[in-house]
Amino acid sequence: MLHLIMLTARTIAACLALVAAPAAPNTDWPSYGGSESEAHYSSLTAINARDVQRLGLAWSLDLPGERTLEAPPLAVGSVLYFSGTYGKTYAVDGRTGRLLWTFDPDFANHAPEKLRLVMGAHRGVAFWRGKVYVGVVDGRLLALDAATGKPLWIAHTFEEPGARQAISGAPRVFDGKVIIGFGGAEYGTRGYVSAFDANTGELRWRFYTVPGDPAKGFESDAMRLAAGTWHGPWWQWGGGGTVWDSITYDPAFDRVYLGTGNGGPWNSEVRSPGGGDNWFLCSIVALDARTGAYRWHYQTTPGDEWDFDATENMVLADLRIDGRPRKVLMQANKNGFFYVIDRAKGTLISADAFTKVTWAERIDVNTGRPVETTTARYEKDGPVVIWPAIAGGHNFQPMSFNPATGLAYIPTMKLAMSIGPQSPEARESLARDQRHDFPVLAVSAKLASVDPDDGSAGLLAWDPIARRKRWEVHYPHAFWNGGTLTTAGNLVFQGLASGELVAYDATTGQSLWSFNCGLGIVAAPSTYELDGVQYVAILVGYGGSAGNGGRLFDMGWRFGEQPRRLLVFALDRHTALPATAPPRFALRALDDPHLAIDASLAAKGRELYHSTCTGCHGGALQGTGSIAPDLRESQLALQWLSFNAVLQSGIPSAGMPRYDDLTEEDMRALFMYVRAGAREALQHP
Ligand code: CA
Repeated sequence: MLHLIMLTARTIAACLALVAAPAAPNTDWPSYGGSESEAHYSSLTAINARDVQRLGLAWSLDLPGERTLEAPPLAVGSVLYFSGTYGKTYAVDGRTGRLLWTFDPDFANHAPEKLRLVMGAHRGVAFWRGKVYVGVVDGRLLALDAATGKPLWIAHTFEEPGARQAISGAPRVFDGKVIIGFGGAEYGTRGYVSAFDANTGELRWRFYTVPGDPAKGFESDAMRLAAGTWHGPWWQWGGGGTVWDSITYDPAFDRVYLGTGNGGPWNSEVRSPGGGDNWFLCSIVALDARTGAYRWHYQTTPGDEWDFDATENMVLADLRIDGRPRKVLMQANKNGFFYVIDRAKGTLISADAFTKVTWAERIDVNTGRPVETTTARYEKDGPVVIWPAIAGGHNFQPMSFNPATGLAYIPTMKLAMSIGPQSPEARESLARDQRHDFPVLAVSAKLASVDPDDGSAGLLAWDPIARRKRWEVHYPHAFWNGGTLTTAGNLVFQGLASGELVAYDATTGQSLWSFNCGLGIVAAPSTYELDGVQYVAILVGYGGSAGNGGRLFDMGWRFGEQPRRLLVFALDRHTALPATAPPRFALRALDDPHLAIDASLAAKGRELYHSTCTGCHGGALQGTGSIAPDLRESQLALQWLSFNAVLQSGIPSAGMPRYDDLTEEDMRALFMYVRAGAREALQHP
């Protein structure tokens, strides 16, 4: 599984050059992870463990129309750049919060059908030499003039415009190139990343993460090699392995690391009958940054069938392990293991469970392979109950790493799932409901609550050298807490689903300061310095997959009731946050007493709802205030005429896709399910 092709003279030279390079001043936050190491770390110390109690709100900016906010704001000079839902891009004065410009990619008009794919998720923009780069759901990558927000060039990154692919991640810039991947492994697509000339938008190279149809010839030796680990006509399903979030550039070796996603369909027996590791799914893949040529890969979950994407952020660091300095890459993987990889050759140094894990006993350091438990694979004896669930032990919310404490700060989750193969009949019915010519996941998976604290979360301080926990803060709710920021001021910042932004002592985990932001937080904070003043910035916009968590993850946030905002903090500033509606748990269901409920139609609607609507409107009709309303409270869902009109045409500007491919009976079934649920809630609150 560990594969080293070659270590070139060029990479050795780059390595030597790095040793002599002086440390750059670090007052900006110029990229997604704060620096090339992607550590979400700042060397600023004005805000520190001693003085953080003096931290207060400097200013806030309301962001009307936004829903889920997942990006750490970039800070370059005096300007903050960030993206909102679906990639709307903002430039804001970092001192005052004055809005300088916005750019709306207007994707709902470009590709309204893609509204079904990503539920608004967008994790940020990139900056390089006067340009801001933003990827759009529909596959466009744009370079904007950082001074005006006007597009300078547009590249189209999707090979097939109609493919079920969607960009939700932040681009990365390195050595005059800008690179982007996309998501969609679940929908029958083939993963790849594209690197463009940052000045002109010309395609420089492209790397596919899974092999295509052998009859058409392989694009590279790496694809030929990978094809040996697949069986059956996998290319018909696309294969997956999409790079939907994490990409890290390594100046020490002039390489790019990709974190690749799951295969499509999830069920490996359908995807690759007879097994196989299925390179390069669920892997960390190292490429030559200049050419995009394969260098090595490490597969975290061979032959994955649990949606254990390796797309979590990858942090580069120099660690002293067993007495010798190592250049390492660290990842807290969705599968529950914390990996430390020697990035010179891609060899595994260590891998340890950081949350409850039952799909594998351990990772064998000699082979690099997981030692799977006998109950993990479900094709023959499924369904099985395993930890972690598909949401992972850790997901897109970045961990941070502090070189002073030597600790990684991981937003963790503890969740179990029941997962098993789908019957061919159920598969066919789902494919029909979702109008796909693709077997979608070919599994049935649902969250399971087995241990008393399933559904909980934590902030874990992990020592990657000692390979153990140093401290941990426990949270009652897993969905979703935000990513972390750590600083040389010996602090860790994290926003929570409860709406609190908290500062912890990075050494001890003691809570030192908190601020009620008025709405759940899923983004990671960033920090910057201007005129000698250090600021901490955070986007407040509960969302992401919080929508499908249902009752288990309801924090009382209600759609449209709590404004989305950018909040910026500094010492000795005490601006009042404009009023926000408090959490509300009581449902305000609407009912039309004259409507006769057709129970059998409602039962049919229930099935359709859970294959089509649940991701945004919430499991079992329970909205969680993230990106779409609880339909039992919706005026538009109260009457058949308006309900039908919304399904026919969608509300693209509000993120509601159109479903004009549903039959009239399907639409009536959905309507009946919603109406029955609302009446039930009123009668049995
Ligand atoms: Ca996935």
